[in-house]
Amino acid sequence: MTAPKPHALDGLDDRLRALGEQHAWPAYRGRQVRQGLFGRRAADWQAMTDLPQSMRQTLDAELTLWSARILRHDRAEDGAEKLLLHLEQGGEIECVLLRGHSGSRTLCLSTQVGCAMGCVFCASGLDGVERNLTTGEIVEQILRLQLLLGPDERISHIVVMGMGEPLANLDRLLPALDEVHRDDGLGISQRRITISTVGLPEAIDRLAHHPANYRLAISLHAPNDALRNELVPINRRVGLRDILAAADRYFAASGRRLTYEYVLLADVNDRPEHARELATLLADREALLNVIPYNAVAELPYRTPSLDRQQKFRAILEARGVHVRFRHRKGDQIDAACGQLRRAYRQTSDTSRQTSDTSRQTSDTSRRTSDTSRRTSDTSRRTSDPAPS
Ligand code: SAH
Repeated sequence: MTAPKPHALDGLDDRLRALGEQHAWPAYRGRQVRQGLFGRRAADWQAMTDLPQSMRQTLDAELTLWSARILRHDRAEDGAEKLLLHLEQGGEIECVLLRGHSGSRTLCLSTQVGCAMGCVFCASGLDGVERNLTTGEIVEQILRLQLLLGPDERISHIVVMGMGEPLANLDRLLPALDEVHRDDGLGISQRRITISTVGLPEAIDRLAHHPANYRLAISLHAPNDALRNELVPINRRVGLRDILAAADRYFAASGRRLTYEYVLLADVNDRPEHARELATLLADREALLNVIPYNAVAELPYRTPSLDRQQKFRAILEARGVHVRFRHRKGDQIDAACGQLRRAYRQTSDTSRQTSDTSRQTSDTSRRTSDTSRRTSDTSRRTSDPAPS
């Protein structure tokens, strides 16, 4: 059996350089390939018609461009689109394109298959982590989602808020983000790229030394260690004090205001005393608090607080001068969050291994059409929060 072809998007420059040396391509050919992939949105090697046919054939023979298979593609009424991808190297992940009212086009990316952090309310980590994604698999999500855009649309923001803990896979994530940040990549400003983390101090310090200053969002979810230990189990090993100290160092080094995320769970972390404690914690910090009313996950016991409760929480914070962004729900419909689509898929595929992928996918899609817009638009709410630019 022949070894699988390497993934072109995993160290693209090195791969092109190696092939170029082997086949005596002039240096500008590498730039053309980058332009084809990032700028012209080529759907495959053959679509790069400015390259000689022989070069396209070599690329085709030597490098895999798409290593993932689309298992599902959902589109919501508000324009959000979500892909469930099966990866050649194993596992399923989700990634999302969000269309904002103001014309923003935000991509939400995954960094791991599953997640090891164990946040008790989150669907992504219910089965633990399987593996880190490769740089190529992260860049592929970006290019796949970019192919969904119309000719007049451009990616404006990237948020690393899909499945997985980004700071547990920093070595693969940073080259992927640098690829899109580079001028000869997608040229997206570092201010418009946000990494969301559960809060791993050492990795935050590493990130602070990275040449590009990406925005950092820290998932707080509780104003004290006792509660955070319950909701975010990794906290038992880290603790709020060290996380906030690392966050302060990141702010000092990058000059970028941080975002703190707070998933609001009814009767768990939404009481007035929680709001007051949170305000004290953030009082002297140059920070934005992003409160996300919980997106209920079917198998989990947590609930979304009522609107009234959400408003009270907000009022306490605002009265104390915290800069809050808060998304009130229009309806009280309960939706699925990122990670749940994969879960639903796995449960179906466990019971129907014999069924061919295509028929499963088709029947699934039609069965779930009514669900889909609800589900996808909800993911948008959770991630509809790219850093202001
Ligand atoms: N591991 C990273 C990225 C997680 S996803 C992190 O912890 O930040 C981005 C945000 O969505 C996190 O704050 C996460 O806690 C939150 N989240 C996860 N499940 C959610 C749900 N069901 N409803 C609302 N927010 C959720």
